[in-house]
Amino acid sequence: MQFVFLGCGDGHGVPRVGCRCQVCHDALAPDSRNGRTGPSAALRGGPSYADRVVLIDTPLEFRLQAVRLGLDHFDALLLTHAHDTHIVGLSALVQAQREAGLPLPIYAPAQVLDQVRERFNHFWTDKVYRRVVQPRPIEQGVDLWGLEVRPLRLDHGLGGTAYGYLFSFGRGRLAYISDMLRPTAEVRQALTGLELLVLGTSHYYEEIELWKRSVMDIVAALDLIRQVAPRRALLTHLSHTVDYEAISARLPPGIGLAYDGLSVEVEE
Ligand SMILES: [Zn+2]
Ligand SMILES: [Zn+2]
Repeated sequence: MQFVFLGCGDGHGVPRVGCRCQVCHDALAPDSRNGRTGPSAALRGGPSYADRVVLIDTPLEFRLQAVRLGLDHFDALLLTHAHDTHIVGLSALVQAQREAGLPLPIYAPAQVLDQVRERFNHFWTDKVYRRVVQPRPIEQGVDLWGLEVRPLRLDHGLGGTAYGYLFSFGRGRLAYISDMLRPTAEVRQALTGLELLVLGTSHYYEEIELWKRSVMDIVAALDLIRQVAPRRALLTHLSHTVDYEAISARLPPGIGLAYDGLSVEVEE
């Protein structure tokens, strides 16, 4: 099974509008790994998974991300939380599924689905869209064609509550935790000994007080990774303060920065 990063930027993306910093400037170069669109990822199964695609979140650039990677159908959508950055691209996904004549099951804890409905009520009420959009609240977890998915409730700091997802498929175990400030004891335990851990980190180090923040920094992530010891860890949800080349060079073996379009093979 492949884990694919559709986008690995924070909510502002890189380059940011109007920013003239060195990272934003570098991000304009065609092959720059500093060019980052909104946070989204997908699990893509090979023949053993009937080529299914399970998408996580739909940021603003979802349509461009999907086109760039040649993803033309989605079997399920998982949502981490209802912040703009993670859901504003939902319309494009719903339209694409509708055009393709495919349903779109949307999995998330009930509270997240309620918030999404407040923003996209027509998907729940309009009869054209009700044929496509299938909201599926999950509490403990769900089995998606042999892929076991378990939501993890996360402390998103100033951002409130978000969810991460723990995946098991065969022997492969991985987690996608894009928006967490502090790991709870339960989360720490769930993340122990994974094959792949994906963590969201907006900056290398943030000096402002913890209560004003919403996502962990790379320094805190390295500490957590040391404790839970995954075979491989990748950092995503990166802002323009993170220069791909400079920061990658400072990371220990087995830990790397994600970039848009990166695809990682996860053993099954
Ligand atoms: Zn910048
Ligand atoms: Zn976020």
